[in-house]
Amino acid sequence: MTFNKVLDEIQLYEAGKPIELVVRQFGIAPEDVVKLASNENPIGTNPAVVKVIAENATKAHLYPDDSMFALKAAIAKLYDVRSENIIIGAGSDQVLEFISRALLNENSSVLMSRVTFAMYEIYAKQMGAKIVRTPSYEHKVEEFLEAYEAHRPKIVYICTPNNPTGDATSKEDVIRIIEAVDKETLVVVDGAYMEYAAAKETKYAITPNDLLGYENVIYLGTFSKAYGLGGMRVGYGIAPQPLISTLHKMRPPFNITTLSLAAAIEASKDTDFVRESIALHQEQIKRYETFAKENRIGYIDSYTNFITYLFDDRNDSTKIADALLKRGVIIRNLASYGMNAIRITIGTARQNDIFFEHFKEIVI
Ligand SMILES: *Cc1c(COP(=O)(O)O)cnc(C)c1O
Repeated sequence: MTFNKVLDEIQLYEAGKPIELVVRQFGIAPEDVVKLASNENPIGTNPAVVKVIAENATKAHLYPDDSMFALKAAIAKLYDVRSENIIIGAGSDQVLEFISRALLNENSSVLMSRVTFAMYEIYAKQMGAKIVRTPSYEHKVEEFLEAYEAHRPKIVYICTPNNPTGDATSKEDVIRIIEAVDKETLVVVDGAYMEYAAAKETKYAITPNDLLGYENVIYLGTFSKAYGLGGMRVGYGIAPQPLISTLHKMRPPFNITTLSLAAAIEASKDTDFVRESIALHQEQIKRYETFAKENRIGYIDSYTNFITYLFDDRNDSTKIADALLKRGVIIRNLASYGMNAIRITIGTARQNDIFFEHFKEIVI
């Protein structure tokens, strides 16, 4: 069978390895496997949310409220915006897909930094669009402006803080990029880890309200990271109403489940859980910084819930990732991004103890 030619160019997204795989392959007991690979909230699911999910289980035969009235109201309250400015996706990943399908074709290009979230490229390639990357993994304003002038991309992606590197772009720099592009280009500000950056340093804090004055800018957020709901698949886009209305044409009905809807509404009310998650993270990430300094390992100052260790010739990221996996520690190897580096999600104190116990024996 002949498929769309554009698919030849697509490499499968490499998802974080599941615990089940390590149990199966290496015969390690599930309770001894430590997963620090997908930037999930290590504390787990907020108990208040678990309760609501259980309560809603009896409604599994009903389609969810397709208007998502209550969830949009909750997000609107969280950010002080209006419901008409919000579109909900099965993860913000799905909003990325809506955006790509609404804007791209084989004559367009998308601009992003050299190392960034892999799905931008995959969705663009599905539409036959060309990928343009800046030379640096950081979002450098001058590089973005130069590439923008040279290629006139249809979409500019700003992932801040950036995955998988962990660095952030200041609000000032984001606004400089936005103001330099014309209204035919959509600027996507992906704030999947914004809660962590905002808690660390105010100059990196960007809110949807900072951007709503621009007709060609969309802010993306998710419940998968700080809110601890990766398994529920809820994300959102916030933008001026005309843009949101157009994106709704791409959305299939009932695109998140009844349980996801209930979970996200409950999660959005409990900002204490988010604050506690961030506090634990801030305390634990220091251990990773200290270890790196003491052992002459490079790292990128992180504004996210993970840290990226940069290796020199002494260590090979693929060997290290494989050795850790055999010991039941799942982290993310960044070799496929062209970096001799690993990305480690900051875990609980116990998970981090286990990581260091093994890592110490492996790293040179
Ligand atoms: C995790 C992540 C997302 C989306 O996650 P969803 O679970 O689909 O909401 C988007 N962008 C970046 C950079 C991410 O790391």
